Amino acid sequence: MRKLNMPIEDAIDVFDLCISKVQNADLKERLENCKPSIVTAAADYTTKAPRIELHTIATHDSINGNVTKEEMKKVYSDRMVGAKSPGRYIYDKWRASAPNNICPLCAQRTTDTLDHHLPKGHYPIYSVVPINIFPACSSCNKIKLDAVSDTPETDHIHPYFDDVEDELWLKAEVIELKPASLRFYTIKPDHWDDIKYARIQNHFRLFELEKLYASHSGEELAMNYFRINNMFESGGALSVRNFLKDGWLSMSNANLNSWQTATYEALYNSNWYQEGGFKP
Ligand SMILES: [Zn+2]
Repeated sequence: MRKLNMPIEDAIDVFDLCISKVQNADLKERLENCKPSIVTAAADYTTKAPRIELHTIATHDSINGNVTKEEMKKVYSDRMVGAKSPGRYIYDKWRASAPNNICPLCAQRTTDTLDHHLPKGHYPIYSVVPINIFPACSSCNKIKLDAVSDTPETDHIHPYFDDVEDELWLKAEVIELKPASLRFYTIKPDHWDDIKYARIQNHFRLFELEKLYASHSGEELAMNYFRINNMFESGGALSVRNFLKDGWLSMSNANLNSWQTATYEALYNSNWYQEGGFKP
């Protein structure tokens, strides 16, 4: 949903850092021997991600039969996430890399963990590959978990490679029953192909954004009541309408597809709301 700047760290530099304190000589050697495969896998990822072909990367249980999935996952959990692990400062840096610490998947909750785009449980070779890891909120991380895509339509939106803020796809409509509320939905932008739209529809559904946004917009309506009622009392529906228009344009300027933009646009387009529907 929100595009993020790609991490600048090199895949092998990060891997070397993470395994720098491995004491077991056999494990250390086997991990060292993974490096050519990691370089190849990272290059393949860089080629396929912009083409929406990450779903064609095969799931695997080991790295060349030499390092198991569990051993590679531990490079992440013990040597990057662990509080005193050598890779921890990279973990902290990436976790804090989203603007205002807003989760790129829901664009609402704050980031408090890292998410693997291709889950390490099925793609262990990408356990500490920078372009596969981005900050997210725990809720989105938990919803996505080990989901594997097998078609372009189900390829998840990737915060480093996808730009879904180029056109309007998030809309809302006022449900004209008191108390007023909003229903959020998606529309297909004119210049998007069917696959890109299917991906945002899947994203909207998977992360339960309709429910999340309806909840927050309900709070927004409640918090605006006092102000809007005063405007209505002094300047009538036109005064309310002008306020909503300003809100819509301002929100839209900041983020085309935020729930706030959709909310203010829907309220601006509802005569019912402006003429008293805002009253509980
Ligand atoms: Zn989130």
